[in-house]
Amino acid sequence: MRARLVAGNWKMHGSRAANRALLDAIVAGVKGVECAVCVPFPYLAQAAERLQGTQIAWGAQNLSEHAAGAHTGEVSAAMLADFGCRYVLVGHSERRQIYGETDAQAAAKFAGAQGAGLKPIFCVGETLEERDAGRTEEVVARQLDAVLSRTKFADAVLAYEPVWAIGTGRTATPEQAQAVHAFLRKRVGAATRVLYGGSVKAENAAAIFAMPDVDGGLIGGASLVARDFIAICGMAQRKG
Ligand code: PEP
Repeated sequence: MRARLVAGNWKMHGSRAANRALLDAIVAGVKGVECAVCVPFPYLAQAAERLQGTQIAWGAQNLSEHAAGAHTGEVSAAMLADFGCRYVLVGHSERRQIYGETDAQAAAKFAGAQGAGLKPIFCVGETLEERDAGRTEEVVARQLDAVLSRTKFADAVLAYEPVWAIGTGRTATPEQAQAVHAFLRKRVGAATRVLYGGSVKAENAAAIFAMPDVDGGLIGGASLVARDFIAICGMAQRKG
């Protein structure tokens, strides 16, 4: 049986004061489900200090594809491990779309993260144009196969995040999510957790988490509001 996971992606939001209140609330409010927060790099130390010894894991949102060296402004997998990260997002659509991250770079980051003992949360997803052209499976397969052709998925986490549903308020229907999750599962196997991400809110989380191949969520905007994030974690706990 796959343990459910709810991971928050804070994106480029936060301040030390706001984080303190949010982390306190999450520690107090999340029960009975695996939960992680992926915070901006400067707040990793704060997250590590507050979450050490609690049931909440922490992680980052990106990493360098290089191990070390002359890469000004980059952050290595080993540095994330040094700050106690369990998870790191890899291949988020904002990295791919805004920063031009390629499938090969995402695969290199995935391998680097695993090499440092981190669990990548590997994101795949199609644009609206690709979905409308009937290319969803082709696109997510290509993104995932870049990793699988290089390394084993092992105990990494996969996240299906349709680009058209991220931060748009428009979410995939539970059936749309299930169809893609079932397709992805054939590639990664029964033991791998496949999360859904894209405008998950307290109002729609239960229906999405009820799908057989959905093992939790990757939550952006709603992970910044303690009440909403805690409610979403509660929905994951209730399933099954
Ligand atoms: C995300 O950033 O991974 C995400 C799913 O964002 P949102 O929940 O805001 O759509």
